[in-house]
Amino acid sequence: MQGFNKYYPPDYDGEKHGSLNAYRGKHALGDRARKLDQGILITRFELPFNIWCGTCNNHIGMGVRYNAEKKKIGNYYSTPIFSFRCKCHLCDGWFEIQTDPKNTRYVVTSGARQKDEDWDPEENGGFAVHDTEGSAAPVDPLVALEKSTDAQNHQTKVQVPRLESLMDVSERYNSDPYSLSLKVRKQFRDDKKVRKEKEKADTVVKDRYSLPTTLNLVEEDEASIKEAKEQWQKGRKEISRESKRRKLTFEPKSSVIPISSRSSSTSKASSTAVDSLRARVLSNTAARRPRPSSSASASKGKHLVIHGG
Ligand SMILES: [Zn+2]
Repeated sequence: MQGFNKYYPPDYDGEKHGSLNAYRGKHALGDRARKLDQGILITRFELPFNIWCGTCNNHIGMGVRYNAEKKKIGNYYSTPIFSFRCKCHLCDGWFEIQTDPKNTRYVVTSGARQKDEDWDPEENGGFAVHDTEGSAAPVDPLVALEKSTDAQNHQTKVQVPRLESLMDVSERYNSDPYSLSLKVRKQFRDDKKVRKEKEKADTVVKDRYSLPTTLNLVEEDEASIKEAKEQWQKGRKEISRESKRRKLTFEPKSSVIPISSRSSSTSKASSTAVDSLRARVLSNTAARRPRPSSSASASKGKHLVIHGG
């Protein structure tokens, strides 16, 4: 039995024995390695399908496990092919199962019969699965030539020029990074200058009209200038119209107010207004004068007018 613990006996010499297993004369895999000199390792092998034993003709179910002799018997390309030799548990017969890397499955090679239970789509109402490797019929040499010529043409006419143009572009962008950077930075500086000037002008406008600093002013171009002008003229017209309307509505009042409030204005407009008012009041008072009990308002008006004049 191989050593399982780390107990090193007193007569153990590392130089001489190398390992504990060697000291005991055992393989690390123990009894399973007893046929290793024949290239056989004993492994646990589980039947991947149902079989009938060839010797006793008993049915052995899928999943039954055996201590099988595993042996490498060849290669499929670089993949090893193993055989598993098992002894029937119902009789003393041996059977052998091999791996089949090409079809990724197992095959019974001797001593038993495999129960054929592979799924057949065609039998079950599906479509048959055909071999994807293609037929082994000889290839038409002319067709093959045409194919290879097409491939070559595609390479020389499409792929190579494309690759070259890509390389050209790459070369152009990577040959002189200094001058490219210079160009870009110069442009950036110019742009920055313009931007700074615009910001300065905007700040002046914002300061003048107490606009919030976060407000974005519209970019000045011909269209916006024209629009602003139109808006301005429209606003002006509206204001003048409004003032005219107000003048018309409040004219009598406005002509009285400056007089009663003893306006000191000496403008021509107000003096003409006063003159007209005086004429009106005088005519009124003249009309009412014959009456002895003249109204207080009229006399008051007269008095006012006299003072006003
Ligand atoms: Zn058997």
